[in-house]
Amino acid sequence: MQNGSSLDGKRVLITGASSGIGNAIARAFAGQGADIALLARREERLRDLSEDLIGEGTKAFSFPVDLTETGPAQDAVNLAASALGGLDIVINAAGVAYQANLSNGDIEKWRAMLDLNVFALAVVTREALPHFPEHGGHIVNISSMSGHRVPGKGGFYSATKFAVRAMTEGLRQELRAKGNLTRVSSISPGFVETELLDVYFSGQKTGGGYGGVDYPILQPEEVAELVLHQVTMPETAEVTDILVRPTGQKT
Ligand code: NDP
Repeated sequence: MQNGSSLDGKRVLITGASSGIGNAIARAFAGQGADIALLARREERLRDLSEDLIGEGTKAFSFPVDLTETGPAQDAVNLAASALGGLDIVINAAGVAYQANLSNGDIEKWRAMLDLNVFALAVVTREALPHFPEHGGHIVNISSMSGHRVPGKGGFYSATKFAVRAMTEGLRQELRAKGNLTRVSSISPGFVETELLDVYFSGQKTGGGYGGVDYPILQPEEVAELVLHQVTMPETAEVTDILVRPTGQKT
């Protein structure tokens, strides 16, 4: 942990902390002195991560929960806020991605994406807001480049990420209308090397890359660095969105 960092003692709730981008954000924020609540389903992964962080001197708590179940999701946010003594920052990183065609795709996969990427994100955010300080906190939604353009095979996933962008902007406007200065940001990465891509490309990795992705893709730690940048900007500056793609990504 670095002494005197701008995240010293900040109380941070991270969903999707058991792997990929959420895990990298938890490690990066802990490295800057934040206290962390970790949410996801896989209990063992959360326990391993919290033990690592505690070993490095961080206050870390884990709350295993299926965020698509509304009551348990609300309870987990409230328990996390009590454990941390309030919340300053919420990172909504939990998400799933499937290539499920709009014309004839698997309806249950559509529902899974909608339930987690859109609905659970809204529930977590709504439940977290009362725990922010009066002068405002910060919400960061992990969106996607698919929230800016529609990739051919990912139309439904893309719809959920366009929704994340709409909710990010909609919430910002609602809060400002009430005089609440909580910052609301999103980050919209292209391909990032995480387990999500194994699922999205159904494990079809050829020659070191996923279907047609023959260039180096982003690392979760690089996304975490950008999220750190968003939350450590002066409180008078709100980074609304960051689009970041692998240099080799064509679309
Ligand atoms: P991972 O699959 O590595 O992480 C997804 C996280 O979401 C896991 O921690 C998983 O934990 C959690 N999660 C999934 N389902 C649930 C659930 N029902 N309840 C609670 N938690 C759940 O993928 P990424 O790190 O890549 O994904 C993080 C975010 O980044 C997602 O929103 C994704 O859409 C976005 N993104 C990813 C890109 C990429 O190329 N990887 C590109 C652009 C955006 P558990 O299974 O333990 O519940």
